[in-house]
Amino acid sequence: MFSHVDGYLRHIMADCTGKRSGNVADYIPELAAVDPDGYGLSLCVHDGHMYSHGDSSVEFTIQSISKPLTYAMAISRLGNAMVDEKIGVEPSGEAFNEISVDDRRRPKNPMINAGAILAASLLLPPVTEIDEATVTKVFGEVLDFYSACAGRRLTLDEAVYASEKATGSRNRAIGYMLDSFGALDTNPDAALDLYYRQCSIRVTTDDLAAIGSTIANGGLNPRTGRMVFNQEVAQRLLSVMTTCGMYDGAGDWVTGVGLPAKSGVGGGILAVLPGQLGIGVYSPRLDEHGNSVRGVETCRHLSTDLGLHMFNVTRESRVTIRSVYDLDGVEVSGDWTELERGFLRTCRDRVRVYELQGDLTFAGAESALRRLETDMDDLSVAIVEISRIGVIDPVARTMLLSAKRTLDERGRKAMLVDPDNVVRTSVKRHRNDAIAPNLNVPEDLLGFDPTLPHVHSTMDEAIEDAEAFLLKQQSDA
Ligand code: GLN
Repeated sequence: MFSHVDGYLRHIMADCTGKRSGNVADYIPELAAVDPDGYGLSLCVHDGHMYSHGDSSVEFTIQSISKPLTYAMAISRLGNAMVDEKIGVEPSGEAFNEISVDDRRRPKNPMINAGAILAASLLLPPVTEIDEATVTKVFGEVLDFYSACAGRRLTLDEAVYASEKATGSRNRAIGYMLDSFGALDTNPDAALDLYYRQCSIRVTTDDLAAIGSTIANGGLNPRTGRMVFNQEVAQRLLSVMTTCGMYDGAGDWVTGVGLPAKSGVGGGILAVLPGQLGIGVYSPRLDEHGNSVRGVETCRHLSTDLGLHMFNVTRESRVTIRSVYDLDGVEVSGDWTELERGFLRTCRDRVRVYELQGDLTFAGAESALRRLETDMDDLSVAIVEISRIGVIDPVARTMLLSAKRTLDERGRKAMLVDPDNVVRTSVKRHRNDAIAPNLNVPEDLLGFDPTLPHVHSTMDEAIEDAEAFLLKQQSDA
């Protein structure tokens, strides 16, 4: 019914829309022809719930975001050790299409073209002659794998593929250099063909977010329940995406955004918060590194505004709702008249208690809020009990308080049982920082209410308050 998360995402997009610098990729006509102002954002959380905004169903080519996926296939099939013999894992500090290798003549990492072409070659049979039918068959497996990560059937953009192939001199130079070093066990043209095809797979930001959440979940696609790759592979992907995913700007990216990510010249960025969520952004104007300008800015905002930096540490935010129950088994308190008590007994199920636990961050607050949204029609009072919450992240606190206000506005009552004053303490701590140090979202959008009414230190107090509310509602009716 109400989604604060959608409000945040819309706000972040509004903040970044003005970023119109950069140019769309123009090395092939198909990429040059896209709408430069296209802008989509999707977020897929740990249980597979998807938030989609803007051009989230517009298809574009995956381009270099294919690199971690093909690498995942190679290590799933051959194991880390064998792949490590062939492809390094060191950030190169160079452009993605640099014609370079390390001192063992291995591509420096799988996120630059040399490493990606080599990873593609590892999926092909180790023979020097490969016919087109074989490449097509292997590409079918690649498409199956990518589709399983996205949770839907993906397709090839034939026109982009034809153009990539026709104009790929630089990639051919890289492929032939690798071959001349004896690095390829297969036919270089076949490896290049497979690489051009994988780059030309069409995706949407919803797909990227789903792929991201599959990586975040250790290889289990939360939308389909299918295990696509194992935990070890996921860890490997997250590592190389962290150190090499955003090309030359890796250090700046990790410091400023702190989300393992991969970009593509089609304008997409895939980012992952390990254990929690996947993000897909699309906006085709690129910076000098080939990263989407608005995409980078959007990730920066998501990270700072929503506290998504991966080193925002010591958070146990997934097991947030410990239990949910109504007051059916709880006796009506003695302070009311017999008549009032009689009435209150008829509506014990209209009061629902939500016990939260863990450290509350964006992801935890998101699932708690979504549960409240779903239940809203069935309740009059929601009592949120947070005695087992250790730390409340500023954004989570704001989300909790704005959910409370929304419930109030809909004629429900929300109460907080906060014996240790976690919310008040965090308000005090952050009050001078305008809600939250990083949350650059206006207060009215969040519905933030700094006076904190209906915060109780015991459950008994909250129940009494709930009963008073129900009686008042009854007498007003
Ligand atoms: N097809 C492009 C290439 O190989 C992909 C590059 C990218 O997205 N960074 O040059």
